[in-house]
Amino acid sequence: METKATVAITRCQEYDPKQVYQAVKTSLEQVDGIHKLLSNGKKKVLLKPNLLSSSLGPEHAVNTHPVVVRAVVDFFQKECGAEVYIGDSCGSLRSGSTNKAFKVTRLDEVTRETGARWINFDQDKHIEIKKTNGATLPTFKMAGVVKDADLVVSIPKLKTHGLTKYTGALKNTLGVIPAKGKKDVHVQAPKPSVFARALVDVYEEVKPHLTVMDAIVGMEGNGPNAGEPRKVGLIIAGRDGVALDVVASKIIGYEPMSIPTIRYAQERGLGTGELNKIRILGAALPEVVIPDFKRPSSFARDFAINYLPGVVFGKLFDISTSVTSSVCESNCTRCYACVKNCPVGAMSTVEGRVVVDKEKCIGCYCCDEVCDYKAIEMEHTPLGKVFVGIAKRLGVER
Ligand code: SF4
Ligand code: SF4
Repeated sequence: METKATVAITRCQEYDPKQVYQAVKTSLEQVDGIHKLLSNGKKKVLLKPNLLSSSLGPEHAVNTHPVVVRAVVDFFQKECGAEVYIGDSCGSLRSGSTNKAFKVTRLDEVTRETGARWINFDQDKHIEIKKTNGATLPTFKMAGVVKDADLVVSIPKLKTHGLTKYTGALKNTLGVIPAKGKKDVHVQAPKPSVFARALVDVYEEVKPHLTVMDAIVGMEGNGPNAGEPRKVGLIIAGRDGVALDVVASKIIGYEPMSIPTIRYAQERGLGTGELNKIRILGAALPEVVIPDFKRPSSFARDFAINYLPGVVFGKLFDISTSVTSSVCESNCTRCYACVKNCPVGAMSTVEGRVVVDKEKCIGCYCCDEVCDYKAIEMEHTPLGKVFVGIAKRLGVER
């Protein structure tokens, strides 16, 4: 009989430490092969949460909640006496941002209370990865500890994403690349579909042994930074990150094959992209779906391109989703975090105002990801507007 990927869904309504620990434990105990992963003595376990923001606390639902990270630390310390490390590189290029993200997310308390060790991926030893399989990113640098650890556990946050539609297990591994390297990824992969392929390159290299998703409160609307918190009430866990993303994206109302990272990872044989090949344990999927989960403005609609072959899908996906940014003056505090974070130098200041060179802008959302004031606005490119208009007239929305 064919072995199915397993994804465990456990209900958990709030960030109460006892409830969260129980939900994480229940989920992980159902994951296929968990006992083998925990066997053979003490392990060096690396936890990779999503620390996108260096300024917004847990209540904003941007970063993985510290209570979930704590529960995963506790689980591995109790179950296999693990030596636990927590590491990431945050979304901002400003010096010191990753350490600020660590503190603002209150992971400093988690490390103090548990003895887990913090590793700032911007400052730690890096290794050079060279890929030979026609990858979008033929070479990149990543945190060396990823390869030193016995187990890598990804702890993403369930969120929408303006560039990649959704962010979960596959997208979370980008954080193993230090800050400047992430900027280079955007320059090398300036279109949404190409960026999604680059993310899959990184995921392939990290291939976490386990993923535990913080879906207690997710983010809807203009994620990953400027959306709104939305209660989902779940912890989701599995060994196959592709399968986990299929299930999580379905929960927030997406067709999984419309998410380019899922589609490309499945094509590369990195996991199970078909829902009917996934064994779901715990809560029943239809009971936890949130059909009105708000989408980012760039993906307010799905088009019937989801069923087209990969190359055609990628081209139409790029046209229908390409955006350029502009700044809403009334919200802007002139902190200039966006200007410093733009990987292609498309932002500058004129008499104190931030202005965007639309010719240079690649629509990468790096400005939006660091703006804490919802002052960045994304608008479809002229070609994108034409595509969306024609698709609507032809009735190929779905
Ligand atoms: S748009 Fe946002 S990040 Fe940029 S200067 Fe204004 S407030 Fe700061
Ligand atoms: S202006 Fe914003 S969206 Fe455009 S390239 Fe710069 S960071 Fe990316």
